[in-house]
Amino acid sequence: MSQSVVSDTWNQPFQPPDSIPERADIVVIGGGIVGVSTAWFLAKQGVNVVLCEKGHIAGEQSGRNWGWVRIQDRDTREIPMMQESLRIWDGLEDEIGEDVGFTRGGCFHTANSDKELASLARWLEVAGDYGIDSRILESAELGQKVQATGARWTGALYTESDGRAEPHRVTPAIARAAGRAGATVLTACAVRGIETSAGSVSAVVTEHGKIKTSTVLCAAGAWTSMFCRSLGIDVPQLRVRGTVARTAPAGKVLDGNIFDERLGIRRREDGGYTIAHGSVLEHPVTPSSIRYFHKFMPALMQELKIVKLDFGREFTKEWSTPKSWRLDAPSPFEETRVLSPKPTPSVLKGIRKNLDALFPALRGAPIVESWAGMIEFSPDVVPIIDAPECLPGFHIATGFSGHGFGLGPGAGKATAGLLTGTHTGIDVTDLRLSRFFDGTPIRPQSSI
Ligand SMILES: Cc1cc2nc3c(=O)[nH]c(=O)nc-3n(C[C@H](O)[C@H](O)[C@H](O)COP(=O)(O)OP(=O)(O)OC[C@H]3O[C@@H](n4cnc5c(N)ncnc54)[C@H](O)[C@@H]3O)c2cc1C
Repeated sequence: MSQSVVSDTWNQPFQPPDSIPERADIVVIGGGIVGVSTAWFLAKQGVNVVLCEKGHIAGEQSGRNWGWVRIQDRDTREIPMMQESLRIWDGLEDEIGEDVGFTRGGCFHTANSDKELASLARWLEVAGDYGIDSRILESAELGQKVQATGARWTGALYTESDGRAEPHRVTPAIARAAGRAGATVLTACAVRGIETSAGSVSAVVTEHGKIKTSTVLCAAGAWTSMFCRSLGIDVPQLRVRGTVARTAPAGKVLDGNIFDERLGIRRREDGGYTIAHGSVLEHPVTPSSIRYFHKFMPALMQELKIVKLDFGREFTKEWSTPKSWRLDAPSPFEETRVLSPKPTPSVLKGIRKNLDALFPALRGAPIVESWAGMIEFSPDVVPIIDAPECLPGFHIATGFSGHGFGLGPGAGKATAGLLTGTHTGIDVTDLRLSRFFDGTPIRPQSSI
């Protein structure tokens, strides 16, 4: 199998549209897995949908993630959507007619002490309630499944039915399927803002002109807070940078995904491994960090050991970015077509060291590519899927918080249901935006 170059997803030339439609039933802002999956479900329902992406399909989080499709360790509010997502993943390749590398190889969360293993075992109660096949593996059985001869694990939480897929292939493939189903997918087409009539959405204004519509979905990933703020809607959101790498094809030491405090590792379809540090995420401190400090306190306290603060250029960059802008001139979305942070060299060094220590058999496997992605997260690290009352016609699907790739297809189905008022069986009430403002306690159940 030939090696696939992940960064080709965002390093290709931009392809702006020759023309844009005059009107649409629904306009989706954002060509990540959430926007694209929603457009796909809408198009399959016969809805006239236009998707606008400012850069490339999957150019940001959706093309840069680890590729884990897991239900293990999720917040209970995400579980029904994730169960539906897994059903969609199972049939996805047949339905869209493309290989996206989906396979169910299992997911391991390792423990380095009995105390850690006991803490991981608490998830089994949730798993039992939802009929999920998670179980605890003692070190002997773990050793048979994973050739980590340098590890001293006491055991692991294991969910055999969890899976993985190739991020740089999935979202573009779903976008093509959406196109075949009748959606219009526009790239290099930033949405600058919204026009209203009698207080309701009447059009989106893109850099290439106006699309009349009464219904809009903002699935703008790390840009959602800024976009919504320009409309007077407060969406609390922060970002952390994750550094990722991949090795060349190498011997098989596992068939699945392992999360360890030193390393996150996934077997790739090309026979290599996607690898990342298990306990380093970098938070570029910005004015938003201060503005939203109280709402994010619980999440940041929980991730204290993992999240490193980065006092770099991002503070002044956000400070100097306008909070609102004219719609007939280039906007901040055209200025940064692809949010493409650089991988951090010291983190890459740590990844190599931890890989070699845990998996001596991979010492000779060269790292052939590295990249970084900006993960956006909400105060309780669970998505926001909602239609805020203050702007009729406007909808939001964001805040997927480090676990939206696996959830993407299910989120797309649920969001399409919200947009069209169709019953999907997935209740999104607990994902409403107002939970951050109405006194509901902000209690993350899972990590970023
Ligand atoms: C390093 C890393 C590792 C991760 N690992 C995993 C994992 O293993 N498993 C998992 O389930 N999840 C993982 N995630 C999280 C997952 O990738 C995200 O939750 C998911 O991709 C979010 O999808 P999205 O569509 O909401 O956002 P995105 O993929 O970020 O897409 C949003 C899109 O909107 C576009 N946009 C923004 N503003 C505008 C505008 N004004 N006009 C037009 N377009 C606009 C952007 O250009 C972008 O392409 C990881 C993320 C990262 C970064």
